Amino acid sequence: MPVFCSSCENRRAVLKRPKTGHSVCKECFFWAFEEEVHHTIVSARLFNRGETVGIGASGGKDSTVLAHVMKVLNERYDYGLNLLLLSVDEGITGYRDDSLETVKRNQQQYDLPLKIVSYEELYGWTMDAIVKQVGLKNNCTFCGVFRRQALDRGAMMLKVDKICTGHNADDVAETVLMNVLRGDIARLRRCTAISTASEGDGVIPRCKPLKYAYEKEIVLYAYFKKLDYFSTECIYSPNAYRGHARTFLKDLEAVRPSAIMDVVHSGEHLSVREDVRMPVQGTCARCGYISSQALCKACVLLEGLNRGLPRLGIGKHHRLHGKILAQEPLTEREERKLRAVDF
Ligand code: SF4
Ligand code: ZN
Repeated sequence: MPVFCSSCENRRAVLKRPKTGHSVCKECFFWAFEEEVHHTIVSARLFNRGETVGIGASGGKDSTVLAHVMKVLNERYDYGLNLLLLSVDEGITGYRDDSLETVKRNQQQYDLPLKIVSYEELYGWTMDAIVKQVGLKNNCTFCGVFRRQALDRGAMMLKVDKICTGHNADDVAETVLMNVLRGDIARLRRCTAISTASEGDGVIPRCKPLKYAYEKEIVLYAYFKKLDYFSTECIYSPNAYRGHARTFLKDLEAVRPSAIMDVVHSGEHLSVREDVRMPVQGTCARCGYISSQALCKACVLLEGLNRGLPRLGIGKHHRLHGKILAQEPLTEREERKLRAVDF
């Protein structure tokens, strides 16, 4: 016997929503998914009329769905936003070059302007070259730090007011778990925020309109809408710790689908004791980006790469940053420590 859509009771149901368990037809699913994102945007007041919003676009399913839904909602509800796509080219042959082709097609399909900033032009290093020097263990540290700044710099070039990213509920829940497991209280406090205010000059506010969207539903939405996206994983993706948190969360979800939202809500309602020490934000003495140390993480990592001392930004070597800033020579022992890499 055919199952009818629990929402319109008219058409046949074609899927069971992972988030609610309801059997729905395609049209009612699209509508519910889009309305939930609209609700998130409106209730958290993510945007203001007239703003220019850069959509962080990687060509993957999350950012492709984000770009599509943002365009639909901007027209349906007349948000009055000026949308554009912002992509980072990390310089990963066989991965990012292909996914950027997808972004270029999305640009045509959605008729939105596109800006691509590359690690090579900003830092003089591609991820391919970085991996050659640092190996496959810490590469994501470099990539993550560089991406954050690259998005900000691209956004500044385009005079963007806000950046929105495709982080979904699963990503947020994973991050909550990871920060709990690592005891990283400062990050735990921040990681569930749906938007961040500008933390200083050159740092553009960011928000996550898909924060309450399940990854499984994003995949279904992209699939049924036949969106054009790129689904290969990065060839340098080790990120073992996040992988464990991810597997753990997926196991929980299989038994209890609300586990994802439950972890997000737990993270949102945790309160951090007042006397927990938080890093004090200042600015980087070299590039002016926000930093809680004399030099920002990107400048330290870059200095390490340029000097052939890749461990410089990994682990606790803050003591040496002053020396670098003052261009004092390092001792042989210090150099040796910073050169060693685990391949
Ligand atoms: Fe960069 Fe690591 Fe992501 Fe690959 S998996 S794009 S190296 S952060
Ligand atoms: Zn810096």
